[in-house]
Formats: sequence, C-alpha cells, structure tokens
Amino acid sequence: MDLVTTPLADIAPRVNAARAAYDRGVTKPLAWRVATLKRMRDLLVEREDRFLDALAADFGKPRAEAWLTEIGFTVSDIDHTLANLSSWMQPEKVPTPLAFKPGTSEIVHEPVGVVSVISPWNYPVQLLLVPVVAAIAAGNAVVAKPSELVPHSAAELVDLLEALHEPAVATVQGGVAETTELLAQRVDHIIYTGNSRVARIVMRAAAEHLTPVTLELGGKSPAIVSRHADVALAARRIAWGKFVNAGQTCIAPDYVLVERQVHDALVDGLAAAITQFYGSDPRTSPDFTRIVNAPHFHRIEKLIHSGTVAIGGTTDADERYIAPTVLTGITRDDPVMGEEIFGPVLPVIAVDSLDEAIRFVNDGAARGDKPLALYTFSGRDADNEAVIAGTTSGGVCVNGTLMHISNPHLPFGGVGESGMGAYHGRHGFE
Ligand code: NAD
Repeated sequence: MDLVTTPLADIAPRVNAARAAYDRGVTKPLAWRVATLKRMRDLLVEREDRFLDALAADFGKPRAEAWLTEIGFTVSDIDHTLANLSSWMQPEKVPTPLAFKPGTSEIVHEPVGVVSVISPWNYPVQLLLVPVVAAIAAGNAVVAKPSELVPHSAAELVDLLEALHEPAVATVQGGVAETTELLAQRVDHIIYTGNSRVARIVMRAAAEHLTPVTLELGGKSPAIVSRHADVALAARRIAWGKFVNAGQTCIAPDYVLVERQVHDALVDGLAAAITQFYGSDPRTSPDFTRIVNAPHFHRIEKLIHSGTVAIGGTTDADERYIAPTVLTGITRDDPVMGEEIFGPVLPVIAVDSLDEAIRFVNDGAARGDKPLALYTFSGRDADNEAVIAGTTSGGVCVNGTLMHISNPHLPFGGVGESGMGAYHGRHGFE
C-alpha cells in the first residue's frame, strides 16, 4: 500500500485551524474533552477489526498481541483518563505563608495550546493515540502525525481522528518532508516518540520557537539476573518481553547480564519458553511478528553474527522473518552491543557478580546510554534494591518485564539518551 501524504502546502493551514479552534476556547471545557475522548474510544472499539487487519498487513502483528498492546492498552488509557479527568482538572490548593494571609494559593492546570504528536511505527496505535489522549485531556488542540513506515495503520489512525470532525484535532501524514514542515510550525508542545537521532532534529526545530518537548526515545535496556532468581520464571518473563512484537519494543530487554552460576540454566529456560510460546518452528507460529521493513531486517540480521548462536538464528528475507534468537559468548565490543537491537535477538552475557552487572550498565550510561527500562530478577530484595540504587533508568520492573508501563499511575519516560519528560495517565495530562 502506498502511503497517502499530506500536501506540504496544507500543513500550516491545518496547524492554524487547530490553533483557531483552541483560541475560540473549543477545547477547554471538561465537556468537550470528555465527549471527544468518548467518541475516540467508541471509534476505536467499533473499528477494532480494521486496526487489527492494518497491523497484520503492516508487519504481521498477531491479532491477540495487537489487541492487548494496541487497542486494549489505548482503551484502558482513555478509560483511566475519563474516570479521573475532572479531579485532575481541579485547582490544587497549596499552603500560603502566614504573612500573606488571609490570601490563598492554588495551582491551576491550564492547557498550553496546540500540541504536535509525532510517532513511530512499532506500536503505531498506542504511541500516536495515548499522547493525543493526554493532549486532549489537558484541553489542547492537537496535530497528530503517524509513522510512514506502517501505511495501513497510519491510514486507519488518520481516518479515525478525522472521523471525530473536530477542527481542534488535525492530522498530517507522511515522512521526513512532511514532518520537517510540521516541525517548522509554531506549536506549544511537541511529543515525539522515536529514535534519538531524529529527536535531535525535533529539539533543534523546537528551539526556533522555544517550544517545550517531550522526547520518548529508546536505547539498550538491560535485564539483570541474580543467582538467587527463580531462573525459569526469569527466562519466561524475559522471553515474553523480548519476543513480543519480535523485539521491536522500546522497553524490550535488549540484553541480559546473568550471574555465571545460573547462565546455562537461564539459556535452557529461554529455549523452553520460546518453544512454549512459538512452538518448535516459530516461523509457522501465528503468534510471532515480522520485521517492519527490509532495511531493519538486514540491520538486525547482521547482529546475529556476534558471539555464538545458542537458540534460533534462522532468517528469511522474503518474509522478513528472524527467529527468536539467543546469543552467548558476547562481549561489550561485539556489534550487537553497539546499538539498540530492536529485533528478536537477545545477547546473554555472564558476569561474576551483581556489582559487575551494575558496573556494566553504568559504563554504558557513562557513554550517554542511560536505559529507558531496566529489569532486575532476584528472589532477594537486597539484590533488587542494590541494582535499583546502583543504576539510573527511565523505569524499573522487578522480577518482570514491560509490565511497569501498564500502570497508568506511573510516569513513562526516559532519562538522558532514552528521553526527557514523561506521560501516561495524570503524567500525560500534566
Ligand atoms: P520512525 O522511523 O517511524 O520515526 C519516528 C517518527 O520520526 C516518524 O513519524 C517519522 O516520520 C519521523 N522522522 C523520521 N525521520 C525524520 C527526520 N529526518 N526529520 C523529521 N522527522 C523524521 O521510528 P523509529 O525512530 O525507527 O522508532 C524506533 C525508535 O523509537 C527506537 O529507538 C525505539 O526504542 C524508540 N521508541 C521509543 C518509545 C518510547 O515510548 N520511549 C516507543 C517506541 C519506540
């Protein structure tokens, strides 16, 4: 399917129309925010099958997984927002120093104006719509641009937002040229999700208008497995977090640091989990996603040549299939450790102690690579606490993977190279 692109000359008028709606005060009342979010929710639920078809057409995303991580995730974010919005909007009373009595003080949550949402391809629905939900909840007009790499999903997303028939909700479709034109417009906040190279372009463009940015980026998120972990459980949860969406998940465990005593047991556990999830030939599994496009396929395929293939390793360029793959005997200098993998390839590195694992993560952080997510597996609280205290990351999940982003009470965002700012639930509203 060819991507529909917005004519460049239409982009400024769309942003202006959204701003005009904001200036008329359309977006500020609670009633408008609630009604718009409810219609968005209804459309998403009504069109669930269309979205699941689009995600399958774009990169073979299995329906159950797509429902859970895209439709269900977004619907539950809207529900959480609808349930809490009026209380979030209440002014927050704060104490007033005695000298200013009988005066009172409060913090009022005001919208900022027009918010641009620029999103990537890997979870196209939730990564476009959840920021849009936050922007609308906060009383803003919004201009949403999905990723050009998933044209079927992008078309559905734009169609859904246009079906709201709200001048305050605008869309732009396209790639670099259209995003560049969108970035040239003056808006009041930009939330960009994607890679850190483009984030620099976004931030430079934002600087022209002194526009604040939320940057949701990626990087190498480690999983650390202590010798005191339930190793089979850790293996299953790491395998799930890694191979869902074929590893094309910003918070997927990128690599594993495991205490040497349980290295072999962990690799055995990963093999068992992969067979349990995807059968003995994952290529024929209805539950395993394909790589989004040929350049990403070839980039990931090259990374398999690091170390020793312990599990998987097979590929098929025609299908853009890369088997769930586990590599052992990896060192920091191997190519697979030189970039975010963003595919179904999991390097497992043996360490002599948790301290060595912490140093390993911090060596990466010292080069600017602070993880978006970090996973620590141990049956001993002291181990998990030492890992948390000894490292910095956007978020941590203990004895699990990915789950922390599903708690709408937690802010989701990165630190350093993995991003700035955060959203989800009230944090997005703020
Ligand atoms: P992508 O290629 O779809 O690009 C993201 C957006 O940037 C798209 O809308 C695209 O049109 C735009 N873009 C691309 N090049 C541009 C340019 N030169 N100028 C202006 N705009 C441009 O997605 P991607 O960046 O490959 O996404 C994968 C990355 O995103 C990974 O690093 C991943 O970890 C990260 N990610 C982070 C999160 C998060 O929530 N923190 C979520 C998903 C993905």
